[in-house]
Amino acid sequence: MPYNYDDQNIFAKILRGEIPNDTVLETEHTLAFNDIQPQAPVHVLVIPKGPYVCHDHFALNASDAEIADFTRAVGKICQMNSIQPGEGGEGYRTIANAGSDGVQEVPHFHMHILGGRPLGRMLSK
Ligand code: AMP
Repeated sequence: MPYNYDDQNIFAKILRGEIPNDTVLETEHTLAFNDIQPQAPVHVLVIPKGPYVCHDHFALNASDAEIADFTRAVGKICQMNSIQPGEGGEGYRTIANAGSDGVQEVPHFHMHILGGRPLGRMLSK
């Protein structure tokens, strides 16, 4: 079944300015803001401004400019939070949940950046 973007999802509302967010970075094609229920000292959500449901939808349909902008934004947020393991930081984890098996709650592609404490193993079960 093709992707059907629901423009009433909460991140679409954030992008339209209908509900507030705690922005940490905004670029031409990307917005990053703090997760409302942080699970680590650093918990930032990075989203494209375009209407993409999940990572593969974005990866296969977004323009090169959107993908480059998004990827650079992820790097900048790691830099801003001093979590880059190659630059003296202690590391981090990126997560992009997709669909029902991935337990994606908000159907607008978003990448979680988590850091600031040891995060444990990737999956608990
Ligand atoms: P996921 O399960 O990957 O879809 O994660 C959705 C994330 O969005 C969760 O970590 C929520 O805490 C977060 N979230 C939901 N609503 C908001 C909001 N209004 N502002 C910031 N983060 C939110």
